[in-house]
Amino acid sequence: VAERPFTNEPPIDFSREANQQRMQAALDQVRGQLGRGYPLSIGGKPVETGAWIESVNPSHARQLVGQVAAAGPSHTLQAIETAKRAFDSWRDTDVEVRAEILRKAAAIIRQRRFELAAWITLESAKPWRESDGDVAEAIDFLEYYATGMERLAHSRHRNLPGEANETFYEPRGVAVVIAPWNFPLAILTGMVSAALVTGNTVIMKPAEQSPVIAALLQRILEEAGVPAGVVNYLPGVGEVIGPILVQHPDVALIAFTGSLGVGLAINKLAGETPQGQLHIKKVIAELGGKNAMIVDGDADLDEAVKGVVDSAFGFAGQKCSAGSRAIVLEPIYDRFVERLVEATKALTVAPADEPGCGVPPVIDAEARNRILKMIEVGKSEAKLAFGGDVGELANEGFYVAPHVFVDVPPNASLAQDEIFGPVLAVTKAANLDEALAIANGTRFALTGGIFSRSPQNIATVKRKFRVGNLYVNRKITGALVDRQPFGGFRLSGIGSKAGGPDYLLQFLLPRTITENT
Ligand code: GLU
Repeated sequence: VAERPFTNEPPIDFSREANQQRMQAALDQVRGQLGRGYPLSIGGKPVETGAWIESVNPSHARQLVGQVAAAGPSHTLQAIETAKRAFDSWRDTDVEVRAEILRKAAAIIRQRRFELAAWITLESAKPWRESDGDVAEAIDFLEYYATGMERLAHSRHRNLPGEANETFYEPRGVAVVIAPWNFPLAILTGMVSAALVTGNTVIMKPAEQSPVIAALLQRILEEAGVPAGVVNYLPGVGEVIGPILVQHPDVALIAFTGSLGVGLAINKLAGETPQGQLHIKKVIAELGGKNAMIVDGDADLDEAVKGVVDSAFGFAGQKCSAGSRAIVLEPIYDRFVERLVEATKALTVAPADEPGCGVPPVIDAEARNRILKMIEVGKSEAKLAFGGDVGELANEGFYVAPHVFVDVPPNASLAQDEIFGPVLAVTKAANLDEALAIANGTRFALTGGIFSRSPQNIATVKRKFRVGNLYVNRKITGALVDRQPFGGFRLSGIGSKAGGPDYLLQFLLPRTITENT
């Protein structure tokens, strides 16, 4: 059978009025469904727990999006036991059958595109285009990994006279997926679908801030034909159920995307290998970034300002790929800063459900307070060139105005610690070598960028700016499945790139059989 060519799901064109109307209608429809309760799903059955996690709309904090059952320790053990029991038959299910379930789920998501985007806008405060991108990326992951697994399912044969050799892949066992809230559908779907199509059974632990979208994904997967027990929906408080999931001897793999601190804790706990555990756990962790964009002395200012603003303030900077540092060459520094501040001032801080939203609120009160505290620290480290107040919106939701700090020393906390909010640190560099040293001078290595018109400088930066995803003359967020496999190294994570050709291998074990013939 010929392999299906992969193409990325195109974005919805919101400049068309018909699409604006469809999104407004979807938002209205979803608003009519807010406040509902969602049980756990274990072994294909709904499970109430008597405790709830409330999910609120960050744009309008009094609006309850929904509430989901909070799993406790006993439900967690039950989910692991269920996933373990479902494993043998799922492992032995044909790859084509597993891949078709992913394609069916992609088709359901495609059909519900506007509605799911509306849920994301209301639960995670993503502006329309970003929510739509999140849904499109979920579709991409499903279709890309379906085809990727079909490719890996062909055994490798090396036959000689008298000897036949076959090498092939098998799944690892029970996979725990611990997902972030910032790509509440895309990243969750990516990790779950990879684990699933490779033949592992899954426990899906969504972020506490975006559990309703995860409940919808669970239902979509069930509708697409995932057998009972193969994917289990287990929202809960991370501190309570996370360690149980990660330490359990029947868990084979943990796929995590989130903060550095939690990632390191998971890696450590997973490495303990208790008595009776018959395998060494595999950890895949995509963590943070402190991503820099170098602006060369000859850069096109319009392009550079737009690229930096989009990278820093899109979705209020809440992406691990976001640009949080601009390193600007001396000859262009003053002009760049002036234009950057003008462009930042022009951004509209607004509720994510409003079509004109430029900078939405951040995810919750804890995030807002943490970001505001880091801004206060920043004021003692560098010069605040722009930083507004959000006015009345402060009473409505978790808003933080975009902030631009200039003349930031490269070792300041503003330039070293991930803030995960709309805060940009601008640093001056005397020349390209110094810019590169500053750019590479953090614990992270996720994304980075260069704006330049000099082919020679671009070539130098390609060689010496060592990050997982480097972008030349464009924004540094928005990696697309297959086109830009995504992920970094150093303390930005362990594991190979999501949406890339090696990703599925991490969920598999290779076996070789040699037969004397
Ligand atoms: N893949 C996303 C991007 O390229 C970022 C993912 C994340 O924030 O975890 O923008």
